[in-house]
Amino acid sequence: MVHKGAGNTSSTCSCFTTLGAENFLARVSHCRLHSPSVHQPPTDYPSHPDTPRLARRHSAPTHHGTSPRGAEASTGSWNRMRRAEVAVVGAGAAGLVAARELLREGHAVAFFEKSGRTGGTWAYDPRADADPLGRDPASPGAVHGSLYASLRTNLPRELMGFSGFPMAGRVFAGDPRAFPGHREVLAFLDAFAEESGVAARVRLRAEVLRVAPLGQGERWAVAWRGEDGEVAEEVFDAVVVCNGHCTAPLVPKIRGIDKWRGKQIHSHNYRVPEPFRDQSVVVVGFAASGIDIAAEISRVAKEVHIAARYSEDRLGKIELYQNVWMHAEIDGIQDDGRVHFAEGSAVAADTILYCTGYRYHFPFLDLDGLTVDDNRVGPLYRHVFPPKYAPNLSFVGLPFKTIIFQALELESKWVAAVLSGHTALPSEEGMMTAVREDYRRMEEAGRPKRHTHALWPEWVEYMNWLADQVGEPHLEARRRDVYDRVLKCIWSLDDRYRDRWEEEEESATVATLQRKGSICQASYRDSSR
Ligand SMILES: Cc1cc2nc3c(=O)[nH]c(=O)nc-3n(C[C@H](O)[C@H](O)[C@H](O)COP(=O)(O)OP(=O)(O)OC[C@H]3O[C@@H](n4cnc5c(N)ncnc54)[C@H](O)[C@@H]3O)c2cc1C
Repeated sequence: MVHKGAGNTSSTCSCFTTLGAENFLARVSHCRLHSPSVHQPPTDYPSHPDTPRLARRHSAPTHHGTSPRGAEASTGSWNRMRRAEVAVVGAGAAGLVAARELLREGHAVAFFEKSGRTGGTWAYDPRADADPLGRDPASPGAVHGSLYASLRTNLPRELMGFSGFPMAGRVFAGDPRAFPGHREVLAFLDAFAEESGVAARVRLRAEVLRVAPLGQGERWAVAWRGEDGEVAEEVFDAVVVCNGHCTAPLVPKIRGIDKWRGKQIHSHNYRVPEPFRDQSVVVVGFAASGIDIAAEISRVAKEVHIAARYSEDRLGKIELYQNVWMHAEIDGIQDDGRVHFAEGSAVAADTILYCTGYRYHFPFLDLDGLTVDDNRVGPLYRHVFPPKYAPNLSFVGLPFKTIIFQALELESKWVAAVLSGHTALPSEEGMMTAVREDYRRMEEAGRPKRHTHALWPEWVEYMNWLADQVGEPHLEARRRDVYDRVLKCIWSLDDRYRDRWEEEEESATVATLQRKGSICQASYRDSSR
């Protein structure tokens, strides 16, 4: 895949945006007012007229057919059930749920994972890259994971389960908190992999080196290297790419950086705050990870200076913290080596820590007509299918700024249903028209290319559109509200929101119980005697 130049800053790997708080709150309330209600059809992702909706789900495949590419697929006349042989690349959350949905739909799955375990990002890796900026994710020994030791989820557990296998109400590694630490999520994924039967199918230490179409993409050759170093090639009907997108750092170009004599590190390689003790640190970027890391470092550092876009409304010292200041974005490095911010101030610092997100990276794909251009993977129909190679090549897990696990599941169901013939895609031209339309709308809204896969604020529309494709109900109002509430919490800049959340949930529950009347209270008193 051709990678064209990335923009200055990025999409962020976490679920949230780098908009300013005011801007954000205005948009959240806009969402509240104007989002379609749960059962209304989405407005922003109109179904292409060619797209037959999935009317009902079937239990098992009955026919083996040929590829649903081309005219048959586009007219929707390809209505036989097809059991495809599918290679899934990567066994993180996306690959695990994709494998489950493919198996449920009756497909055969070969599951490749380059590391020694499943769980992807959630398998905390204390190592860091030799290069603190992680510039070459393909270098030998490059680290996949980007979690820091203290990381707790930024979404509550009720938004992090899969259908039929919730995370809420259950404890997997002894951490019952609403926003658990990373070990709890990994244990949840392990349990999910076991229970869904996908764990047994994973080929560990099997790194996919190359994925290439045979003919027009009816079949796909997958070259992979096993633990013994041997390279093998196998042929599949389809390939689902789930290699994660929080590994290859996006580092903005800073004017005059050659004059910088201090250290630079990307959050991909941040693990613990100790190396920053007594330092003056400039944290660039202000999404969920940036907020967490700035708060954590402030407990040991001398000073923390956050450089962020859209921060005009809160420049200066942040009251919540003793030693944290908010600035506009970095304007450049001065001749004296100080970091100069766009609002006019400058600081002498020891380290610049980039929390500026990640770039999409597919080292095993070199496909004509599919590019990563300024962090837009495209063209892709609804973030999943490249029209030229659909449906036999697909991507699960590119979008962010949404309820990620639910998006992974819906995308997976869609891929599985398209491959089996339960639902069909528009023609290649129909998909391209939809892609161009999406790009045009982005441009009109003034959204840069690099935000192509950042779903917010239209995330509900995308989720509901996917749900329509696979005959699932629309997003529950409660989940939407919880997500909006989390965003507000993050933008409060107070990293204690996670614990407060639990206190608030508890008091809300008590209040509800109390509202339910004295009978409950009386019976509670009776039973507690
Ligand atoms: C700091 C941080 C905080 C986050 N917090 C949250 C949160 O609170 N809630 C939330 O929902 N999400 C959060 N996320 C997003 C997180 O990325 C998703 O939850 C999810 O883990 C993405 O799963 P994935 O399978 O797409 O990618 P990954 O988890 O990265 O998995 C990809 C897998 O593919 C494998 N792989 C890659 N290349 C190859 C190859 N060539 N051959 C074989 N295997 C390969 C990798 O080894 C890896 O196991 C966070 C991410 C980060 C970095």
